[in-house]
Amino acid sequence: MKRCEAGPVVVWLVGAGARWTLVAQLVDGSVRLTPTTNPTPLLCRQMSLPEDELMHESFPYDAKYHQPDSVAAAGHCSQHGPDSCRETPVISFQDLHDRWQSGCQRALDELVARKEISPPRTVG
Ligand SMILES: [Zn+2]
Repeated sequence: MKRCEAGPVVVWLVGAGARWTLVAQLVDGSVRLTPTTNPTPLLCRQMSLPEDELMHESFPYDAKYHQPDSVAAAGHCSQHGPDSCRETPVISFQDLHDRWQSGCQRALDELVARKEISPPRTVG
């Protein structure tokens, strides 16, 4: 379900020597499967992308990664926001939109659990 929110998802059904290609799309809050005999190259390419390549690396927190006037550069956790989180950032990372964010230990645990980032290599 979560993947469908980002766009159409190709689903392969394979069985009894036959194979169907379905495109799953989120329509009015429910997933609609549309059979397609001719998936576009774009859909095929997205489908072959391994999960790991969507994951961003993270690095030990360093203000140099962040815009000088940003929340992250000021030493706050921008993942949760300074209003809701007063922890000291331990990591710098790029989010799903390739924006640099800082994250406290809790953010690190959450993001790694969601496979959005990999833990920093030099920590731990
Ligand atoms: Zn935080």
